[in-house]
Amino acid sequence: MLSLEFLGSGTSTGVPTIGCACAVCTSSDPRNKRLRPSVLLRGGETTVVVDTGPDFREQMLRAQVTQLDAVLITHYHADHVVGIDDLRRFNHLQKRVLDCWATEATQARLRQCFGYVFSETLRPGLPNLKAQTITPGEPFAIGDLRLEPYEIDHHVMANVALKITRAGSDPARSEGPVLVYCMDVKRIPEASYAALAGADILILDMLREQPHPTHMNLEESLAAVERLKPKRTWFAHMGHEVDHATLEAKLPPSIRLSYDGLIVRLP
Ligand SMILES: [Zn+2]
Ligand SMILES: [Zn+2]
Ligand SMILES: [Zn+2]
Repeated sequence: MLSLEFLGSGTSTGVPTIGCACAVCTSSDPRNKRLRPSVLLRGGETTVVVDTGPDFREQMLRAQVTQLDAVLITHYHADHVVGIDDLRRFNHLQKRVLDCWATEATQARLRQCFGYVFSETLRPGLPNLKAQTITPGEPFAIGDLRLEPYEIDHHVMANVALKITRAGSDPARSEGPVLVYCMDVKRIPEASYAALAGADILILDMLREQPHPTHMNLEESLAAVERLKPKRTWFAHMGHEVDHATLEAKLPPSIRLSYDGLIVRLP
């Protein structure tokens, strides 16, 4: 079993957006209410949260998460990290230090902004995270999940896409269906295109129809899907320019828009 739950399908501002009375921000469609970007990965025995943005506490309560095996931070934009302090609740519940997977660049920035969260011994009242280094191209395992990170270009910084499978008996090989998580991306380098192609499920950044300097828009995301050829795709990191029902109606059945609370399961 492998599953991904969308804890937040929205862009950095969330939807509704502060001070906006547009049709999407005032919509009664619950799929147009988007918390900041984060997903929960579950293997048969393993639970990993990807990113801890400003809505982290609310997301853990909504999804009724009571146990985490690790946290993975994709990159150090505020909408992906500023809820990190609330991880201390899991240290308290589990009475142990939690592994925090991130690239060296992301770890360095986390140490700058949240230096106090790293500790290899348990301290009461504080998060206690052990830094674990992600190196693009080098697979690693967390419990029964196997993750392969690949570099992607977020324009203002490098980010990592994740190819996620079940960990097999041979750690060098993946087993079963393939899930690709590719968020906060403007351009996918050629080598990463090759590595991420042919997934069973692709979760891809698609901010809105209008172009944006650091995120793919609809046209760019559709072009990426065309090249990556996954069986099914869900778009995420959407802004208030996206009305769920209107945009989804224009897409082919194999491409859907995510929404908060949606769980995608792989056999
Ligand atoms: Zn973001
Ligand atoms: Zn709005
Ligand atoms: Zn970002």
